[in-house]
Amino acid sequence: MVKQKNKSNKPKVAVQSITGCAGCQLEIYYIEDVLLELLDAVELVAAPMIKEKNYDGPVDICFVEGSVSHTDSINKVKKWRENSKILVALGACAGEGGVQQQKNFMDKKKVQAYVYGNKTKHLDVETPVPITEYVEVDYYIKGCPADKEEIVWFVKQALLGKVPKQYEKPVCHECKLREKYCLLEQGQDCYGPITFGNCSVMCPDYNHPCTGCRGPFSDGNFEEHIKLLQEKGFSKRLIMQRINKYGGLRTQKIMQEAKDGKNHP
Ligand code: SF4
Repeated sequence: MVKQKNKSNKPKVAVQSITGCAGCQLEIYYIEDVLLELLDAVELVAAPMIKEKNYDGPVDICFVEGSVSHTDSINKVKKWRENSKILVALGACAGEGGVQQQKNFMDKKKVQAYVYGNKTKHLDVETPVPITEYVEVDYYIKGCPADKEEIVWFVKQALLGKVPKQYEKPVCHECKLREKYCLLEQGQDCYGPITFGNCSVMCPDYNHPCTGCRGPFSDGNFEEHIKLLQEKGFSKRLIMQRINKYGGLRTQKIMQEAKDGKNHP
């Protein structure tokens, strides 16, 4: 994989962006320590948000933030894939479709008219989907926004020649290890059991229930969780809004596969 090179020839890193709020990139740029730590080890050759001149050739690692929501984004992500040894989906938008993919569960014309009024003729819009609909991804840095420490950790791993294994446990696992009192048991609508963890339980730590920003846990029992929340008095409408908020497309797929008996042999 990516080898540590001498100072004059550091590994090339790009931070690219399509539709998103730019919050994931800001995790890198706004935290001076993160940026300096990265710049010490790699050459940031493309970062259009902060650099005027951006290299568009081959790179060692390319972080992509945002979902494919416009026609021209399709060619962009394909080109970034071709040009990158390691392509990383940075944040919930790139990996799950993010908040904008909620549009998939609404009347798209109404949503568009609500946001843009009648000034929509210039828009060349696609249904918002994660970049994985168009390209293969080597690693996901999950979350909304992606976690700065995980970004630095990932770069260090890549410099050592590794693409780490994806974390495969739900938020609840870490909550239990830290002996946190369960928010579900306190009657809150927490989505920890059906959400990928490795977030240091930063929301439950402040007594805020998990809202699912790290995406649907692939082995989560969604049907049972929905039933449990309904028994606790939450409406199905609210539950589905929450479930669909960051990664509804993949959640629906997981639920369908469970119904078809595909994910549990
Ligand atoms: Fe913004 Fe969240 Fe999307 Fe990152 S994942 S670009 S923080 S909306």
